[in-house]
Amino acid sequence: MANIIDGKAIARRFKDTLKEEVNFLKGRSVKPGLAVVLVGDNPASLVYVKAKGKACEEIGINSFQYTLHKDIAQKELLWQISELNNDAKVHGILVQLPLPDHLDEELILEAISPEKDVDGFHPVNIGRLVIGKPLFQPCTPMGIMKLLEDTGMELAGKDAVVAGRSNIVGKPVALMLLHKNATVTICHSKTLNLREKVKKADILIAAVGRPHMIKGEWIKQEAVVIDVGINRLDNGKLVGDVEFEEAQKRAAFITPVPGGVGPMTIAMLMHNTVEAAKRQSSGYR
Ligand code: NDP
Repeated sequence: MANIIDGKAIARRFKDTLKEEVNFLKGRSVKPGLAVVLVGDNPASLVYVKAKGKACEEIGINSFQYTLHKDIAQKELLWQISELNNDAKVHGILVQLPLPDHLDEELILEAISPEKDVDGFHPVNIGRLVIGKPLFQPCTPMGIMKLLEDTGMELAGKDAVVAGRSNIVGKPVALMLLHKNATVTICHSKTLNLREKVKKADILIAAVGRPHMIKGEWIKQEAVVIDVGINRLDNGKLVGDVEFEEAQKRAAFITPVPGGVGPMTIAMLMHNTVEAAKRQSSGYR
């Protein structure tokens, strides 16, 4: 039976350490600040923004929340971001995605200064990740790497399969695994015979967004399974991309949904914000 990777507890430990760091910084007159920009009233986005604000409060980070009208003109949103880029109290800027259709997501994300891009989505930060010289890395993939680290498993030489190739999860986590010397296979909707690929995985990262698509009997004995998927069933239950019950009989380690990757994403956002504050304060470069 697999060990359950307790993302909640690991995130809690991270946040406790960050709290101490923030206290230390405050003693030196540096109070980390995170600006969260929400456009419109997408219910899921509202929940995420609220959770981010709560985490800031717990850790002692200044949280600046901007809720903008769903019809805001692109020019106006760009102006708002430029104001935040120039605001010394704001060390990190996050624009909650998805944005309404009339806004050019790429253009908006590129407007955030790479030095304040705590979501790690700016092309400069993605490029730095590609060449192995990261500044800010996307939070969910970073959280996944911390969970893997917590298992104590050596990643070098392992066969890792990443199911999903989004810019926010699949691609960046594949790069991070590669930098740790795993041999990485990236799968997507056009991949043939996913089952056979998964069966060979010492490490499986499931980031597809389809409930229980990855069958428990595909999991290699003693594999480490990280389930990023968050899928709500018709009965309201939240489940991952992996058939958990069956998979846990074979895996050595597995994350639950909820309580696995999710809590780590916010902890990593807090981490990036504290790092941004350090970088932007003299004496911490
Ligand atoms: P996307 O929808 O952007 O990407 C899904 C990926 O899965 C795509 O690359 C797609 O392939 C691939 N895919 C779809 N169907 C199949 C299939 N049948 N076989 C193989 N691959 C397939 O999703 P995200 O990356 O944004 O998110 C993935 C999941 O993770 C979601 O459930 C999301 O809610 C969750 N998530 C959780 C977070 C957390 O903090 N826990 C944070 C972010 C996301 P193709 O590219 O060919 O279309």
